[in-house]
Amino acid sequence: MTQSPYKTVDSETEKSSDVVWHQASVSHEDRVKSNKHRPAVLWFTGLSGSGKSTIANAVDKMLHDGGCKTYVLDGDNIRHGLNGDLTFSDADRIENIRRIGEVAKLFVDAGLLVCSAFISPFKSDREMIAKKLNQGEFIEVFIDTPLGICAQRDPKGLYAKVKTGEIKNFTGIDSTYEAPQNADIVIKTAECSVEDCALQIINYLKQNGYFQ
Ligand code: ADP
Repeated sequence: MTQSPYKTVDSETEKSSDVVWHQASVSHEDRVKSNKHRPAVLWFTGLSGSGKSTIANAVDKMLHDGGCKTYVLDGDNIRHGLNGDLTFSDADRIENIRRIGEVAKLFVDAGLLVCSAFISPFKSDREMIAKKLNQGEFIEVFIDTPLGICAQRDPKGLYAKVKTGEIKNFTGIDSTYEAPQNADIVIKTAECSVEDCALQIINYLKQNGYFQ
């Protein structure tokens, strides 16, 4: 039998010993210096329909208009492409978040302010992402909207499908949502307009020296 041209995978790290990190010619610091802001990921977490995508996009627009380099990573969009092979099983939900964390880290390395909008219901998954990043590069934003209001809004008709039994394992109904206890920013969308919610996040970034 002919031998595989690939070295065997190290069973502990699951990485080939032939994979060597290539030092980039343009450093992270070079990229940060060419921007008018510090890079970070704003990690939006909250129930479906809480307003993560809406506020993430409003913040992105404000930052972009202010001359920042930005990007939005959105749950549904990522599941169309990069994570199109994943289901909603517990194992795949974890892999979904792990890949998104790696992508967010690349964007931060590129010097961007990234808004990521994923339910990310488990505390341990959010902590895993935070650990991948340096101090100050992970900002947890809890979109704190009561379940009843999310269900009333039902922007994608998902709560209606849960009611008829078409959808199972739905976060907040029959699947756990672990609300953050120490989020950096807590946004109460039931009490403020979309613009005011976005401005609270912009103010946090200004007050904490991400940009002037
Ligand atoms: P998620 O991304 O958390 O699933 P979406 O942003 O897709 O939620 O949907 C939130 C819905 O709530 C949208 O239809 C939005 O217009 C509505 N909404 C009403 N008030 C607010 C608010 N203050 N902030 C964010 N969304 C709001």
